[in-house]
Amino acid sequence: MYSWDPDILIGYEIQMLSWGYVFDRAKFLKIGLAPRLSRIPEQKIRSQIELTDNSLARYKTDLFVIGRILLNVWRIVRSEVTLNIYTFENVSYHVLHQRVPHYSFETLTEYFNQDSHRWKTIEYYLMRCRSNFLLLNELDTVGLTSEFARLFGIPFYSVLSRGSQFRVESMMLRIAKPMNYIAVSPSPDQRAMMRAPEVISLILEPESRFYSDPVVVLDFQSLYPSIIIAYNYCFSTCLGNVKNIITDESRQFGCTTLRVPLATMKKIKEDYTVSPTGLAFVKSNIRKGVLPRMLEEILNTRVMVKGAMKKNKGDKALERLLNARQLGLKLISNVTYGYTSANFSGRMPCVEIGDSIVAKARETLTRAIHLVENTPEWKAKVVYGDTDSMFILLEGATKDEAFRIGREITKRVTELNPVPVKLKFEKVYLPCVLQTKKRYVGFAYEKEDQFEPIYDAKGIETVRRDGCPAVAKILEKSIKMLFMQRDVSLIKKFVLRQCQKLIDGKASTKDFVIAKEYRGRSSYKPGACVPSLEISKKLLATDKRAEPRVGERVPYVVVYGMPGLPLIRLVRRPIEFLSDPSLRLNAAYYITKQILPPLNRIFSLIGVDTNAWYNELPRSLRSAAFVPQSNDLIQKATISQYFNSLRCPICEIVTNHGICCKCQSDPQKAILLIQDRLRLMERAHCKMKELCYQCIGVRLCDVQCESLDCPILFKVLKAKHELVQASHLRKVIEVFSSRS
Ligand code: SF4
Repeated sequence: MYSWDPDILIGYEIQMLSWGYVFDRAKFLKIGLAPRLSRIPEQKIRSQIELTDNSLARYKTDLFVIGRILLNVWRIVRSEVTLNIYTFENVSYHVLHQRVPHYSFETLTEYFNQDSHRWKTIEYYLMRCRSNFLLLNELDTVGLTSEFARLFGIPFYSVLSRGSQFRVESMMLRIAKPMNYIAVSPSPDQRAMMRAPEVISLILEPESRFYSDPVVVLDFQSLYPSIIIAYNYCFSTCLGNVKNIITDESRQFGCTTLRVPLATMKKIKEDYTVSPTGLAFVKSNIRKGVLPRMLEEILNTRVMVKGAMKKNKGDKALERLLNARQLGLKLISNVTYGYTSANFSGRMPCVEIGDSIVAKARETLTRAIHLVENTPEWKAKVVYGDTDSMFILLEGATKDEAFRIGREITKRVTELNPVPVKLKFEKVYLPCVLQTKKRYVGFAYEKEDQFEPIYDAKGIETVRRDGCPAVAKILEKSIKMLFMQRDVSLIKKFVLRQCQKLIDGKASTKDFVIAKEYRGRSSYKPGACVPSLEISKKLLATDKRAEPRVGERVPYVVVYGMPGLPLIRLVRRPIEFLSDPSLRLNAAYYITKQILPPLNRIFSLIGVDTNAWYNELPRSLRSAAFVPQSNDLIQKATISQYFNSLRCPICEIVTNHGICCKCQSDPQKAILLIQDRLRLMERAHCKMKELCYQCIGVRLCDVQCESLDCPILFKVLKAKHELVQASHLRKVIEVFSSRS
């Protein structure tokens, strides 16, 4: 540290692990590490290290080292990449496209304590350090953050740690200062006194059904910023409510008061517009507002930057830089409305302006809907609308006609609105399903000459991350089958096959791992039955540093248990599940509570009851699954562990006799089949182990990897458990051999 004097320190998780651990360890050993790392040693370090351990777990804030930037890599990745789980291994795989093993602390300590294996622990941590650098490099975090800092005029660390309001304010004040304006600084009490917003954006209730005709999706380009520019809505242009505009007295305005002298009003005459909420704003020829000026500059600069990107295609570094700049500009323009209406957390909110913007947007969208529905030549009907978008059904139209009519509508609506309000053609859905507000799915075409549609879903389980991957896969495949083949019997067959695989224990466990976000212990009510909280309690009981971070997604599976046990008692960590062969995935729970409900929400719209499908499975099959009975070490604690397989271990047909009568009558064939099965099991196990050897780069007799994000781990453990079954099969061979 002294020789390199770095500006930036990084760690994958800097609160409980890496730097957080080092600081705590130093504290325990009574070494004042923080001042030594600081560039201003005499200044007191601002960090939660000084807080008690209990609060350390709850705090979301990061550590600080004065004079250096300390980056928490997982939080940065979380805001940049959409993943189910943000473990180091999963992030490495998705961002760097490399599989990395995960060893438990016990394994690492064990390695470290053996002279011949110590290098493995060191190599492992070196790999993690290198990967942290590679991750930040791949995401271009330092480059992008520096660019944003320059663009918004805020410090580097504030780009990562502060919210969007901070950025808007910085840009706004840059423009306001030369105009001789200063921002008001209302107190929290003044903010609390401000009235609540009264207008909400227009969201229509969709006509929930399956649409086989084209549905055109049109949306207003940056509607709120466009409205601010077009109607000159700003703190600096508002004249107050039009009802009492001719008065010399002060009136309530946002958190403060507003007084427009009569003499000024006389000068303005009729040069003002009135918003739908009754607020008057001067026109831009009298005074151009700070917000419209800022947004106009942002939107114009963005167009220029995008043009420069097109010109410099091929220059990767410049393209990345320009892309970062245009993204930053887009972000700022989209959050400016939020700055005016953040009545609780905002620094300078003004509910009147926020309401005016939303009301004008409502009016613009309503006018567009009215035009669409009252133009007979289009034969169009608006079936859904949300804030700035319209879904227009064109009954009986072809795809080409839909494109033509859609473009005509955008042209007419854009002409009706002041510049820069613009309606944009988004896509044509053919076919699609509108489920509820903000939940729909369809095959999208974005261009006339596009032949292959894009599967496009919003808000439904195929794109949500709070279910398990199996649900998303089954639902997506079923919807695609509905759109392409339109044959419900095929979908039913497919879904039942997947259910059967799960019941038989043949489905991949990885697909049934559910990951839910952990909100921190204090965020749950006392006695709350939440799986992520339950898992965190279990982790805390063994290691107080093992509690998941706030915002971390905690994985779990649901297993079978004694009848009557509450569901929360059936929740297990995936590693617990994998290491205990007596546990089985709770097929009934997954099918009835996870897989079928989302399917039913879609298919009930075409009159199909998918819940009834499960009941059509034979009862015997619904409870059948093989459990290795030969492992005497496993203490049977749940009813399911006492179940015998209802399938013959040799030919796999359903039977109540352990080995079916047919196999019993032909022992020689049975022995051959069993030996073949044993050979396949051993081969599968060796193959999986070989993959692990390649991954860790060394041939260890036992791979101790616990990377739950790697599908190979699930296969390795499955193969291992099947080998347990092998001893049972060998006994069968012995019995048959003695008979023959
Ligand atoms: S399970 Fe095997 S392949 Fe997967 S990460 Fe671990 S060592 Fe690598």
